[in-house]
Amino acid sequence: MRQALMIGGMLLLAGSSALAQPATPEAFVVRRVTYDARIDYEATRLSGAITLELENWTPKPASRVSFILHRLMQASQVRDSVGAALPFSQDVVQFEDDPVRQVTQIVVKLPRAVAPKARTTVRIDYAGYLTPYTEVGWLYVKDHIDTAFTIIRADAMAFPSVGGRNDAANRRAPRRDFWYDASVTVPTKYLVATGGSLTRTPHSDGTVTWRYLSGGASPFLNISIAPFDTISALGVRIFYFPADSTGARFVATGSQAGMRALTQWFGPLRGQATLTLNEIPDGWGSQSDPIGGIIQSAAAFRDTTRINELYHELTHLWNATDTDAPSPRWNEGLASFLEELMKEQLNGWPGRRAYETKTLAWLSGRIAKDSILRVVPFIDYGKRNATGWSYTVGKFMFSTLYDLVGASEFNKIIGGYYQKFVNGGTTREFVTFTKQTASTDLSTFFDDWMFTTRWTTLVAAATSVGDLGAHYRPRPRS
Ligand SMILES: [Zn+2]
Repeated sequence: MRQALMIGGMLLLAGSSALAQPATPEAFVVRRVTYDARIDYEATRLSGAITLELENWTPKPASRVSFILHRLMQASQVRDSVGAALPFSQDVVQFEDDPVRQVTQIVVKLPRAVAPKARTTVRIDYAGYLTPYTEVGWLYVKDHIDTAFTIIRADAMAFPSVGGRNDAANRRAPRRDFWYDASVTVPTKYLVATGGSLTRTPHSDGTVTWRYLSGGASPFLNISIAPFDTISALGVRIFYFPADSTGARFVATGSQAGMRALTQWFGPLRGQATLTLNEIPDGWGSQSDPIGGIIQSAAAFRDTTRINELYHELTHLWNATDTDAPSPRWNEGLASFLEELMKEQLNGWPGRRAYETKTLAWLSGRIAKDSILRVVPFIDYGKRNATGWSYTVGKFMFSTLYDLVGASEFNKIIGGYYQKFVNGGTTREFVTFTKQTASTDLSTFFDDWMFTTRWTTLVAAATSVGDLGAHYRPRPRS
């Protein structure tokens, strides 16, 4: 019974201990997703087909893969890339290290072992009921099918994703962004929102298929469905609840101003970038990515002082493709610096310097407490799982650079690097390009901030970004 699999059908294994596995992560990461879903509001049911292009990230061949899905959903069919049925088993199981978390586990036997770095394709047809996962402690996962608002996302396991029944093991698997081609068919009065380029196909039965192509890799796929209103402006598409039209107009004006400023600073956007901004009800979490789009709570959407969060994502549209793997993600530091600069310059925010000084003091305090900051240089943040620090440390790196070279040379560096390396560049290429473009010698600057942790000593001794910049200015001759 332990390893029993039925060809083309499903087998519900009795007794969850029969499936006990060692806590090793799954051998596959998802690289591409094709998704097609339909919502039945009457029956409050979701049905869909998901095709996953999987890559073996381990050094060994792999011939099985496990998926997890919402506990009230089931797979009806599993197939390969040419439509041939693949043997699979499925069962509702509890997580070994989180017994409250109950999921449908689908274990698929692949037709042949997949070599390291090679890919294979699995298609899963499934259906069922979407309900919240609040019992696990995920209070924001209120997901359910509702005419007022429905969200389809991995948080509630609304579609199968690669994973086993051990949370610690799942967390050890590498995180990879994926491309997607996602379609949802709904009655005409509903709008479907996610990131990417959109086509809409109306059908004679009064439904419309909304299809989004990501056009790049995204860390998530969040699809919202509601009787939204929508406005588009200069590369930004906004979906909002009709009651919040004032907030939506403010956000639209802000995004237009932001796009104009960034174009002026860094040159034209390359490629067809559209950012989706999607208002969701309060208490459902928020998430943002330039490709996957932004979901933002209604409160934040109405709060004009949080316009910098939108600017942050807009700046990411001007990021060259980052080919470091894993990446130290200095683009997050750049975005964290630019969002405040934009709020100052576009909205007349008077608090930028004061806020910077406060954050600098906070960071200085953290250096004493957190050995990661003292030991791991920025270039290794990706390798050491420390990219949480890329935002703040990177913000001060770029703030210091801005202070040192001035706005016009800074724009030449950031815009020039984007235009030249739009299709791929590494951190070292960025450093080389910056050194070549700047009229100041930046060797010590990058040694301090990127390749060693000497910046910690400077931050500990500084009270302002001015102090940090002054450190690199040639001393006047006496
Ligand atoms: Zn960011």
